[in-house]
Amino acid sequence: MSLSLGSLGPSGPALPPAPGEDLSVWPASTAHVPGGDLAVGGVPLAEAADRFGTPLYILDEDEVRSRCRTYKAAFPDADVVYAAKAYLCRAVARWVREEGLGLDVVSAGELELAVTTGFPPDRIVLHGNAKSPQDLRTAVRLGVGRIVIDSGTEIARLAALVPPGDRQKVMLRVVPGVSAGGHAAVRTGTDDQKFGLSLTDGSAQHAVDRVLGQPGLALTGLHCHIGSQVTTVKPYVAALRRLIGLMARIRDQHGVVLPELDLGGGHAVAYRPGEPALDITALATRIRAELAEGCARADLPVPRLILEPGRAVIGPAGVAVYRVLTVKRTAGRTLVAVDGGMSDNPRPALYGVRYLPRLVGREHSAARALVDVVGRYCEAGDVLAADVSLPDDVRPGDLLAVPVAGAYHLSMASTYNLVGRPPVIAVSAATARLLVRRESLADMTARDVGA
Ligand SMILES: *Cc1c(COP(=O)(O)O)cnc(C)c1O
Repeated sequence: MSLSLGSLGPSGPALPPAPGEDLSVWPASTAHVPGGDLAVGGVPLAEAADRFGTPLYILDEDEVRSRCRTYKAAFPDADVVYAAKAYLCRAVARWVREEGLGLDVVSAGELELAVTTGFPPDRIVLHGNAKSPQDLRTAVRLGVGRIVIDSGTEIARLAALVPPGDRQKVMLRVVPGVSAGGHAAVRTGTDDQKFGLSLTDGSAQHAVDRVLGQPGLALTGLHCHIGSQVTTVKPYVAALRRLIGLMARIRDQHGVVLPELDLGGGHAVAYRPGEPALDITALATRIRAELAEGCARADLPVPRLILEPGRAVIGPAGVAVYRVLTVKRTAGRTLVAVDGGMSDNPRPALYGVRYLPRLVGREHSAARALVDVVGRYCEAGDVLAADVSLPDDVRPGDLLAVPVAGAYHLSMASTYNLVGRPPVIAVSAATARLLVRRESLADMTARDVGA
């Protein structure tokens, strides 16, 4: 379905952002529309909300594509692999494929969706700390490019699935002992968390021995993913040094020179103006220099670099649009309740992330009030954004838009309270296109076969 929304193309009456309004975390295409609305990809948000209903998720296709191009330009010699767990649907798989990226998946489901959409399996990397037998079987059957071994158990299990005479390319996920990331739940580079094999206790080295002893497995390199929402280059450099150290030991002990090195993702984006984001160009410069120096010191050839950004590709391309259902003024607070919440965006509840919703779709009073934007779900903790400033005339029927909604919202969404998950539309060149329809009660009850 393709709908052209009005005549507000890039050459239409969209205005540049008003002075004083910081739209830096919004998609680059975001523009003011006469009457107080914002347009993304040339599509006014209020028109999109009327047409597709709310809550609504909007992806700016050009923003996704331009972020892919930024990575390709910064890392021309590397494989850039989009982490599908941030958000995946068929269209996103196509966009990143067309931009020349690979795909990082963590389940047979993500893998099947990508491959049935035409994603070349050899550009796909399979991750997971506890891959199911089905995940591994599907990966071997479809011929994924790399399987990242995450535990000792997986080595023999995977080797047993590889047909005699074949060799499955694998990498080994190493825990470099580097602490980085925006929240304890997403720090994955330290010992004693569930991902990877430790360098410090020798389990990474032991796993290397075992993988090299399996004729069905071809070890192409080491992998690490130190965490998510990492704002500085430093921890990547620290991790890189340790991985080069292990590569040198593998060469010394086994005479094997590994041709690849995967530094994972985790590149931070700003959710509110003024928050730090990881500078991709600075990352590229430092990593390239460190890789060249470190490998020269260890007398190793420079391996092919692999990167796995998820959030930084899709997060800032997404906007969530909600409708206000009630406004409740208590003695101490103003609670603005919208028609979505923790089931489409669990991140505030999971990690305490702060968002900055904006009233869209109408002119509003200049006077501001501090309010809590809460969701519709039956938990007092269903707060989308606490203590945010909104026009003090906010009322039922209004639209609130939340920027930086593209990553880890819908991919983590649930059907809590049996409310169907929101639709996803793509916007580009003043046209909106439905990518994923709203989940209906029939979708949900179809699985309920027991009465
Ligand atoms: C989550 C994850 C990523 C992507 O993380 P972002 O923070 O979205 O960039 C990349 N690689 C692995 C192994 C991951 O688990």
